[in-house]
Amino acid sequence: MVNVIGDWGLEMNGQPLDRNPERNLVSPRNPVSEVASWELTSSNTNPDPFQRGWQYLDRVRQLTPEPGMVELSDEISDRIRICTWIGDRIDGINLELTDYLEACHQCFPVAQRQNIQIFAAPLASILGVDGLCNILLDPIAILIDVGRVNREDWLGLVVHEYAHAHLKSPGHDRRFLEVLVHLCLGLGLVPPVCAASWEVDPAVNSAQLRNWPHCTSTANPLAFWLGLTETQPQKS
Ligand SMILES: [Zn+2]
Repeated sequence: MVNVIGDWGLEMNGQPLDRNPERNLVSPRNPVSEVASWELTSSNTNPDPFQRGWQYLDRVRQLTPEPGMVELSDEISDRIRICTWIGDRIDGINLELTDYLEACHQCFPVAQRQNIQIFAAPLASILGVDGLCNILLDPIAILIDVGRVNREDWLGLVVHEYAHAHLKSPGHDRRFLEVLVHLCLGLGLVPPVCAASWEVDPAVNSAQLRNWPHCTSTANPLAFWLGLTETQPQKS
């Protein structure tokens, strides 16, 4: 959510990549049946943390709309370190994200809740995004790059992507605003300031919604995945 893709002339499926990456979430690459039976890495009994991490990333990649959206580092030593760190830590991180997902669910009646799964993963820096929501999958898949924002902002990231998942829509329109306001009020976050003035300038307001809730970006997203920052999940 927080950032937008720059003018790199990226293309996706032969079409110019929109500046708002979240409008490029859909792709025929992953038919629903292909990844519907996802299993958490906690079921991975491989004794080697590097291999567990590698296998986790391999499966997370299947949830992205396009290849290359989950990315590590060009440095082989960093790649090994990141995979090992993921193999050791990712279950705790995903548990925390799942708690936030559940908190979002609690804001809606059971009958209105979408079937959603959520995973942490390092996203390609060229995308300039810290979260993705693949609304074509069932369950809908949310990927969060937890290295890109401070830990206290993880809930905000989840809330933003959850709003897309709830609506099954990548847009930042009036409906998105309503869902986002509902979630923010329910979870004690500051609601979007454009909530009372949507009609004044929808374009400006839509741009603001792309970055709401506001999150503070970290200086080096890979530092988290390399285990150079706080490594202990709050819940494990
Ligand atoms: Zn968005």
